[in-house]
Amino acid sequence: MKEELFNKKETGWKNISEENKSNIFKFADEYIYFLNKVKTEREAVAFTERMLKENGFTNVCEKETLNTGDKVYFINHNKSIYIAVIGEEPLENGMKVLGAHIDSPRLDLKPNPLYEDNGFCYLKTHYYGGIKKYQWTAIPLAIHGVIVKSNGEKVEVAIGEDENDPIFTITDLLPHLATEQMDKKLKDGISGEDLNLLVGSIPEEDKEISEKVKLNILMLLNEKYGMKEIDFVSSELEIVPAFTARSLGFDRSMVAGYGQDDRVCAYTSVRAMLDVEKPKKTAVCILADKEEIGSMGNTGMESHVFDYFISELLNKKNENKPNALEKVFCNSKMLSADVDAGLDPIYASVSEKNNAAMIGHGIGLNKYTGARGKSGASDANAEYVAEVRNIFESANVPYQVTELGRVDLGGGGTIAYILADKGMDVIDCGVPVLSMHAPYEVSSKFDVYCAYKAYSAFVQ
Ligand code: MN
Ligand code: MN
Repeated sequence: MKEELFNKKETGWKNISEENKSNIFKFADEYIYFLNKVKTEREAVAFTERMLKENGFTNVCEKETLNTGDKVYFINHNKSIYIAVIGEEPLENGMKVLGAHIDSPRLDLKPNPLYEDNGFCYLKTHYYGGIKKYQWTAIPLAIHGVIVKSNGEKVEVAIGEDENDPIFTITDLLPHLATEQMDKKLKDGISGEDLNLLVGSIPEEDKEISEKVKLNILMLLNEKYGMKEIDFVSSELEIVPAFTARSLGFDRSMVAGYGQDDRVCAYTSVRAMLDVEKPKKTAVCILADKEEIGSMGNTGMESHVFDYFISELLNKKNENKPNALEKVFCNSKMLSADVDAGLDPIYASVSEKNNAAMIGHGIGLNKYTGARGKSGASDANAEYVAEVRNIFESANVPYQVTELGRVDLGGGGTIAYILADKGMDVIDCGVPVLSMHAPYEVSSKFDVYCAYKAYSAFVQ
């Protein structure tokens, strides 16, 4: 009776077949490759576009009309991308939507970042997203992004990844002299204004001038990127960890890497989209920017550019009419593909074990997120949870239904509520991770593969 009646909770590695294990490990290798090539939202868009083109997708701007089976995408300001495979049914019957985000916590450069102090040259930063500042000191860092000159010329920057590249770092105080720092609260140990990136120390010798180290650095930047100091004001340069994503553990069961929130769900969503052929309902995938800072701005999920993309699909399928867009949204179903907080045995006290996501137990469904009495949550309807369960159970995809930590300990949110606002049925559905938002996050290869399988089953 127990076998039949209990909700079984066990690791997916138990009794796993050799074939399944080898599929999981192969997929993880491809995912690790992606993590190492992609450390910013712009790089995620460019990498995704290449994958899409290689798999028969076309930019929707190049299509006059759309028919069943057509595969298209739309790039929003180089930092967000929407993908669709046109289904057999009219759009107003609703779409199947996967929505992930491709921005990750990091340090951005300030508009006027460069300064010299006591023979060192630094770049000042302003952190992006919810970070623990102390985690970003004394680790190797790389600089990725773009510099756009006033004539519109754009220079791409990625320095600190190649083993011949230099790296950068933010120094921390030696313990010998850190008595005052160590007495502070952890959150105050490193201040935001002290997250200054060390970038040089050789002075320009010949001139009788001040700020000789800064001049030398600007001369190097001018030589390499053709830039002047003023060009920083129109750049987007992101400071990200320079270490590579790797297999974790003697058994290689896990992935350690930067930016898994939320590129793990973004990558698995796109991989699922590549497999879709002539679905009944149009399959759509969103890779959004700015989730980590509240989804604002024209590349964030709050923008209406996604509505514009769907209107384009309606126009090009010749199905547009008054209220068609609202009808599409109200009939659509979505998985908000974002990572879940895995139970960390070292910090088990923040989790409630009956409702915590367990690493290696399959994809996690969060019926709701929010904080303090579900405040701010998009709470998925029971009917919809049943529908999603049914899809996963029919496709034999291991899943767990969880919540984010113990009641009243904190909370969080995703893009789920934004699409729910438009009328869609939405549930959060993603890979549980450890050390979320840290420079090095941990996921289980089993769960990564489950995400791919779950998203595939959902959109197909
Ligand atoms: Mn996320
Ligand atoms: Mn996050």
